[in-house]
Amino acid sequence: MKKNIVDIQTKLQALLLTQHDNYLQGAVADYIPALAKVKPDLMGISVATIDGKHVGAGDYQRTFSIQSISKIFGLVMAMNRMGDSLWQRVKMEPSGQPFNSIIQLEWEKGIPRNPVINAGALLISDVLTTHYSSSKLAFLTFIRNLAGNDAIRVDNQVYQSELTHGNRNAALAYLMKSFDNIEAEIPKVLSHYFTQCSVAMSCQQLAQSLLFLANKGVDPKSKKVICSPKDAHRVNAILSTSGMYDQSGEFAFSVGLPAKSGVGGGLIAIVPNYGVICTWSPPLNEYGNSVVGMNLVAGIAEELGLSIYH
Ligand code: GLN
Repeated sequence: MKKNIVDIQTKLQALLLTQHDNYLQGAVADYIPALAKVKPDLMGISVATIDGKHVGAGDYQRTFSIQSISKIFGLVMAMNRMGDSLWQRVKMEPSGQPFNSIIQLEWEKGIPRNPVINAGALLISDVLTTHYSSSKLAFLTFIRNLAGNDAIRVDNQVYQSELTHGNRNAALAYLMKSFDNIEAEIPKVLSHYFTQCSVAMSCQQLAQSLLFLANKGVDPKSKKVICSPKDAHRVNAILSTSGMYDQSGEFAFSVGLPAKSGVGGGLIAIVPNYGVICTWSPPLNEYGNSVVGMNLVAGIAEELGLSIYH
């Protein structure tokens, strides 16, 4: 039973209190040095609904590096540009491997398992690079329109940090190019990918900008069609099976919502026909998912009975 928004606000505040010290159970990502500078005890949560309501608690208005949550936006843009032919270049299967794993990509001849692991997102970055004259600007414009906020920007410090520590992503991209599954020059593909990972947004902005996925592809704020109902269904399916990387099975088992994490500590969960939950707490578990974020989403989903498997 979904409660009214005033009850939810109270619940969010109570939930945050239960998580007060739990951030100590995780570790802030430091393989991208700029991310290691973020204060580990920050935490926030937002819930936005398709009927225009929004509630938040804690640091929900503070911006953070969206990292892999950006893979959702890139995927939707690429689906809109390429239609069904996209699925010849990337699959829609869970990988069961860490998000930046390279091992499977060679066995599978340069075809990434899905668009929300790094190999898949690099493939999507290639699609955007080759289909837009300025893919970075197109990406930013897409997000700004969805969030209704022109001030959303790329954090240049994070971008530079990713660029100088991006050897594994470069390896993934070059391996795919060796199988002729990347068209553009690799530095261009990487530059797009690191740009989209380095976008800074708040829980409130992310929750607002993803409402179309809870509303069959239509942004309930602007009434604009962002993608077809079929593609909204497909994105949610991919998020359900792969959005939490090799913890996706456990997340489906215990929470039951399409979700996507980022190594900046953000986590979004789509509640079809209802709204979006977004949480942020930087310390991550061994899978690269936010420890507190997972607890918060699990808590609110259980409290409101939001699982899609009920
Ligand atoms: N920019 C990060 C990387 O490429 C994104 C990974 C993530 O958020 N899981 O490693």
